[in-house]
Amino acid sequence: MLRLRLSLFRNIQRQINTMKKIRLDLIQVLFFIFLLVGATFFVCACYELNRIHWEPTSRLLDAEGIAFFGSPVISDVNYMHMMVVASEAEEHPQFSVEIQVDFSVDPSMEGSKLFFGAQITYNFSHLTLNGDIHSDEGSSQFPNQPYEKEIVKGNSFFWTTLTLDPHLKHNLSANIKMDFTWIDCVDRRSFSEFRIVIPFALTPSRYRRLPAVIELEKVRGISAYQTQMASLSLNLSSSAFSLSATNPMADRYTFGSSTFWFLWDVKSRCTEKVDSIAFAADFVSNRLKRKESEGTYWSALFFGIGIPLMISSGFEMVRRVERTPFKPPKLMKCLKCGAEFFQKRWFERCPRCKGRAKGAKNRT
Ligand SMILES: [Zn+2]
Repeated sequence: MLRLRLSLFRNIQRQINTMKKIRLDLIQVLFFIFLLVGATFFVCACYELNRIHWEPTSRLLDAEGIAFFGSPVISDVNYMHMMVVASEAEEHPQFSVEIQVDFSVDPSMEGSKLFFGAQITYNFSHLTLNGDIHSDEGSSQFPNQPYEKEIVKGNSFFWTTLTLDPHLKHNLSANIKMDFTWIDCVDRRSFSEFRIVIPFALTPSRYRRLPAVIELEKVRGISAYQTQMASLSLNLSSSAFSLSATNPMADRYTFGSSTFWFLWDVKSRCTEKVDSIAFAADFVSNRLKRKESEGTYWSALFFGIGIPLMISSGFEMVRRVERTPFKPPKLMKCLKCGAEFFQKRWFERCPRCKGRAKGAKNRT
C-alpha cells in the first residue's frame, strides 16, 4: 500500500516536472524567435545603410584643363563657347557638353588640309564632330567628321583633319562643333552632393603635352586666353538638382523651361599670371537626397528595434538556461575556504564565504 502511494507520488512529480520543462522550452523558443526578429531588423538596417554608401572622389589629379590645337594657318580665334548640361542618371549626374570654336583661316594657307583637335580634361564618350567652313565664295559642311583620340590619365585628346574645297579662298573662317558625354568629371562630396570643376588651360605648359603622334612643330595651341570671346554656361535641371554654390560667382544667372542657367565670361578672367583657370559648381541631386534621407531614417529605425531586441532576448535566453532546475548540479570547491558544495546555477558562489569556486575534479 505504501509502495503504491510512493509510485503514484513519483508519477505525479514526474508529470509536473515534464510540464515545467515544456513551459520553459516554449519560453526559450519564444525568445529565440525574438532574437531572430531582432537579427532580421539588424540585417535590414545594414542593407539600408549600404544603399546610401558612397566613396569620396577627386578628379582633378593630373588634369591640365580644356584647350585646343590646330594647323598654324588658324589665325584669329573669334570665340569659344562651352555649354555643360547636367541631367539625372541612376548613380551619378551625367553631363553632356557642347563646345563651339570659331576661327579665321589664313587664305595663304599651304595645302588643303585643316587640322583641329582638343584637349579635354577627364574622359569623354559619344563624341560627334561637325565642321562648317565658309568664305566669300560659299561654304562647305563636314557633318560627323571621323576623328582619332587618345585617353591619358586626367586628360583626353581628339583630333580631326578637314579637307578644304579649293574654291573657297577669301575670308575663310571655320566653325567646329563638338558634342560629347563627359565622363568622370564630378567629385562626389556626399551621397547626394556633387561638385563639377571645369578647368581651362591657359599657357603652353598646360596644353603642349600632346599625344606623341602629333608633331608639335606643326600645330599651334589655342587657349581660352587667345580667343576674342570665351564663355561657359552650365545648365542644371531645377527639378533634378538644387544648386549650392558656384565658384567664382556666375556672371549671369537665368532660368527657362525648368532649367537654371549659369554663365561665366571666361575670357575676362584670364590673366597672364595664371596658367589655368577653373569654374566650379556645387549642387545636390534631389532624388539622391530623398533616397539618403529615407535610408538614414529606416536604418536608424531598424537598428533601434533590432539591437535592443537581440540583446534583451539573448540575455533572457541565457538567464533562463541558467535558471532551469534541470541543470545537473556540479560539485564545486571554494577557492577561499575550501568548502565543497553543489552548484545549481552558473557562477554561483560559495554559500559559506561568498568566495569564488571552481570545479572539484580531483575529489577522492
Ligand atoms: Zn568559501
